[in-house]
Amino acid sequence: MALLINEDCTACDACRPVCPNEAISAGEVIFTIDPLRCTECVGAEEEPQCKLVCPASCIVANPDWPETPEELQNKYEQIHS
Ligand code: SF4
Ligand code: SF4
Repeated sequence: MALLINEDCTACDACRPVCPNEAISAGEVIFTIDPLRCTECVGAEEEPQCKLVCPASCIVANPDWPETPEELQNKYEQIHS
């Protein structure tokens, strides 16, 4: 399941550089996560790196993108192939 950034984001830019998939970008007001690139860090890290560094606790599961761990791993491998 990809993650998403909710409206509590303060646009601090802490999350963007730690994403192994370059899935995070600055939007007009808040930052956004590309669900086609977010693997919940599966394939690269033990846990979502963006959530670890976010001071606003505004990164949550994206209910529109249910995915199994296997699907997330496959997504990671396709991004990095
Ligand atoms: Fe990037 Fe990992 Fe956060 Fe997804 S969970 S946006 S892959 S840092
Ligand atoms: Fe927004 Fe959190 Fe990323 Fe900062 S770390 S830009 S508050 S989502």
